[in-house]
Amino acid sequence: MRLRLLGGALVVLLAVAAVPASASATGVGGPDPDPSGARANDATLVRATHAAVVTPPDWVPYVGSYPVGCTRGNPSPWGVCDHHHSYIGAIDLHVPVGTVLRAAGGGTVVKVVDTCAVGDTGCEGGGGNWVGILHAGGRVSRYMHLDTVAVTEDDRITRGTVIGTAGITGNAVVSHLHYDEQVPLWTRAEMGEMFACVEGTFRRYPRDLGYASWEAVPYGTVIRSDGHACAGTVFYDVAPGSPFEASIAWLADTGVTEGYGDGTFGATDVVTRQASAAWFHRLAGSPGGPFPDPGFVDVPPDHPFATSIRWMVTTGRSFGFSDGTYRPVECVTRQALAAFLHREAGAPSGPFPDPGFVDVPPDHLFASEIAWLAASGITTGYHDGAFRPDECVTRQTAAAFLFRSQS
Ligand SMILES: [Zn+2]
Repeated sequence: MRLRLLGGALVVLLAVAAVPASASATGVGGPDPDPSGARANDATLVRATHAAVVTPPDWVPYVGSYPVGCTRGNPSPWGVCDHHHSYIGAIDLHVPVGTVLRAAGGGTVVKVVDTCAVGDTGCEGGGGNWVGILHAGGRVSRYMHLDTVAVTEDDRITRGTVIGTAGITGNAVVSHLHYDEQVPLWTRAEMGEMFACVEGTFRRYPRDLGYASWEAVPYGTVIRSDGHACAGTVFYDVAPGSPFEASIAWLADTGVTEGYGDGTFGATDVVTRQASAAWFHRLAGSPGGPFPDPGFVDVPPDHPFATSIRWMVTTGRSFGFSDGTYRPVECVTRQALAAFLHREAGAPSGPFPDPGFVDVPPDHLFASEIAWLAASGITTGYHDGAFRPDECVTRQTAAAFLFRSQS
């Protein structure tokens, strides 16, 4: 088992849902009428918190290949940048009028100006029509000289959302996107790397071009972006360098999940019980059955996750609730996931050292499973000494737990 710290990586989780019963569900039924093992796409799952993903502004804000114009200190051979961008954190990207522009990261639209006419060079101090997006930590990405604007203030958007089209409004001689970052809004800030996928490979600009900073990138250097998702292993809403990046990439590489099909993973969405059944089932190689029907009243034979849920019960990983339900669209609690993983590992009997979680007393129903989880290095709980057994598990946390359990 790999021992790694988890507590600092945990995000605030959602509130409590059901408490799993320890009792077994109803009896075994007849042959499985749904032995296909058809793989349901995660897009069918609940997306409770999906719209709230906030990420840094660190992706190229378009799809295509366009040249860099002026930056501060740009070594332009014709002196065109000499009196332009005398401040840090700004870059011109020479995109033609009408080029679709996308948010460099997820966040909230905090500024929209769309009343500047072409030719009014003083409009908005020369910036023309523009959009500002607030990201984590007070950082704001700004997109200027726009032709059209596709968002409104207070919109909550994800990385890659179309924000408008490029243009020539404000003080612009040729069509271009003036992009910069501020922390907070109205205070200039150094801008970092920009990420993109090129032919399925993750790129970091300007580093991968051989330049240490944007200021060293020569005028006319082409920045190419084929989009935001690299071969299914990097998602819009999983920031490179995120503590969950490796776990999520592993989960995608193993074919356990493809994300939502729109390039996002739904990292902070909660995991439903049916999704967790599908993940464990796929992790085991998607055995096809047929498996006995445990007779859950809320899992009919044509339920898209019937095979995975039956497999979970057949193999002793999950039992459902004592009232005969499985509650497939309810969230998986942290204690339930501890139990699933403990059984996945063959249900070792312990005793295990008491990790001392303040909210898991020795007589807690899942005390042994949670102690095993900690002893195996899969969790360290939260910094405040709690494990929060009743909380819903997020998809990124589940990815991390699964990754560590298999490492
Ligand atoms: Zn500019």
